[in-house]
Amino acid sequence: MNDDKLHHGLVMVYTGNGKGKTTAAMGMAVRAVGWKQKVLIIQFAKGGWKSGEQDVLSSLDEVSLVTLEEDATWIEDRSDDENRAEATRGLDFLENSISAKECNLVILDEINVLLSKGFVDFSRLKRLLSERPEWMTVILTGRGATEELCGLADLVSEVIEIKHPFQAGISAQKGIDF
Ligand code: ATP
Ligand code: MG
Repeated sequence: MNDDKLHHGLVMVYTGNGKGKTTAAMGMAVRAVGWKQKVLIIQFAKGGWKSGEQDVLSSLDEVSLVTLEEDATWIEDRSDDENRAEATRGLDFLENSISAKECNLVILDEINVLLSKGFVDFSRLKRLLSERPEWMTVILTGRGATEELCGLADLVSEVIEIKHPFQAGISAQKGIDF
């Protein structure tokens, strides 16, 4: 629990087609833990896609990490109902965290993708963000952040792809991409 009453929580959006959105959010998690703040990381659309930072972060007392689905499937390969159900479960975790008033930072990793495809109940998300404690920061990552979301955010950073090794035929690598 944050006891600094002057702390001004933010709604932060990391979007764009370039690389660095999730890693920026995870960097924020590490930064917050460095000040003994509590962090909740909710990973949408990441089930089965193991990434190096997951075990490190979830081993920390200050961090809870939730992966919402079991299988390594792309959003496109799941039914609309499955995607909608996952989005709802993610918002349930956010809602519980807001009620518990424990976490200084909540990261909704890749939620922007589900939101842009219409699987997230935006009015509920908007209500939850407005009801959160004023000291709580929420980061929403993923490509294609909607105008509505960017409109209500305090900070929007777009990572622009100028060059990516993928175009030179270098595929995803351990420690760099996951
Ligand atoms: P990271 O997790 O490395 O911070 P990210 O969150 O910005 O990346 P996502 O849109 O979530 O990127 O994409 C996830 C994966 O796709 C990562 O492995 C990343 O390296 C890769 N990726 C990101 N941008 C591009 C791109 N422009 N072209 C091809 N692959 C990309
Ligand atoms: Mg990402």
